[in-house]
Amino acid sequence: MTFNFDSRIITAARQAEENCAEAFSRIEKNAALNSERVLGAFINNRAGTPCLTGTTGYGYGDAGRDVLDRIYADVFQTEDALVRHNFVSGTHALSCALFGLLRTGDTLVSLIGAPYDTLKKVISGNGGGSLSDYGIKYRQVELLEDGRPDIEKIAVMSEGAKVGFIQRSRGYSLRPALTVSDIEKIIKAAKKANPDIIILTDNCYGEFTEDREPTAAGSDICVGSLIKNPGGGIAETGGYIAGKSELIELCANRLTSVGTGREAGATLNQNKFMYQGLFYAPVAVENAMKTAVFAGELLRIFGFDCKPALNEEKSDIITAAVMRTPERLIAFCQGIQKGSPIDSFAAPEPWDMPGYGSKIIMAAGTFNMGASIELSADAPLREPFAVYIQGGVNYYAAKTGILTAVQELMTRNLL
Ligand SMILES: *Cc1c(COP(=O)(O)O)cnc(C)c1O
Repeated sequence: MTFNFDSRIITAARQAEENCAEAFSRIEKNAALNSERVLGAFINNRAGTPCLTGTTGYGYGDAGRDVLDRIYADVFQTEDALVRHNFVSGTHALSCALFGLLRTGDTLVSLIGAPYDTLKKVISGNGGGSLSDYGIKYRQVELLEDGRPDIEKIAVMSEGAKVGFIQRSRGYSLRPALTVSDIEKIIKAAKKANPDIIILTDNCYGEFTEDREPTAAGSDICVGSLIKNPGGGIAETGGYIAGKSELIELCANRLTSVGTGREAGATLNQNKFMYQGLFYAPVAVENAMKTAVFAGELLRIFGFDCKPALNEEKSDIITAAVMRTPERLIAFCQGIQKGSPIDSFAAPEPWDMPGYGSKIIMAAGTFNMGASIELSADAPLREPFAVYIQGGVNYYAAKTGILTAVQELMTRNLL
């Protein structure tokens, strides 16, 4: 038999799943709303068979590319969008947006404490062409002690800034994800103090976890990765930027070149994957959210501190579980890898992943390499040794993957 879980794990899993019933039902309702919105966007924009075929060379007149931009704009309720396989990651899309919008002498203010690890060098890496090398100033509003945004300081520190940055998901921290209504409050405070401020939201891991996106709550632009939520586990690579037309134009100039902007960029054979991925995305997110909720509840039964709480409002697909020691953290990640469809026989080790300050361990036995909408667990090797569990496009298989990780802890006497 492939899986031979200890009876204590099976009993706990049954209990955990029972506890999740209400949360699951909310997740299903949300997936239904988002599925309808996405389908509507496909129909409204007349997605046709020729859209699924790509171009080569310059990629001028790529109908699939242009229609997909409009579909994203519809889904995100924005004027425009830029959806490209050429974005190599979420960090690249975010960097493109920041460089597109900011000019020498401008100020970028992070409204929610430190941004995601990989953006730190984009903002202030020395000499490598960071924003600070171009004379763009940076400041940040620290979060309150409980991890919530400091609305008063947000108002004060937004004054005079060109771009206000918000990160929806928790990143590698234990602060709660910001819900879209939290984001709306932040934006109201910032715009009241500075009506001209451009609000950019890092939407990574947040897409389709609620019934609207930050751009429907006043964010001028939002950015994400296609190997996370909106790629639905199908998109092979890429990212998107959605927002106001004039801002998207600036980002397109930065992505390709000024004057060429969005008009060029061959889609090769990627269009079908990006279309189909978006179509599946609300259900992929549903499965991932169920996996995260189940994992949190199961690990809680075994005494681990997990965030968010079971019935807390969700705005990302992550469960953070505090493993307390590096041994447990590594064992858990290696257990997730053992319970993955691809590379189950490999054992991930912490490594110096480019762009991060600490060593990172990443379990991702995925069809698309490193795709974290598929079941994955990763973490920086630092206190309090929290593991970030996310993804799972097939809840049933992902649940088995979670049980495999818990079994690994038990086998190594770490439970
Ligand atoms: C994943 C992520 C990013 C971008 O990471 P990439 O690995 O470069 O795609 C940025 N912000 C947050 C909050 C993320 O979760």
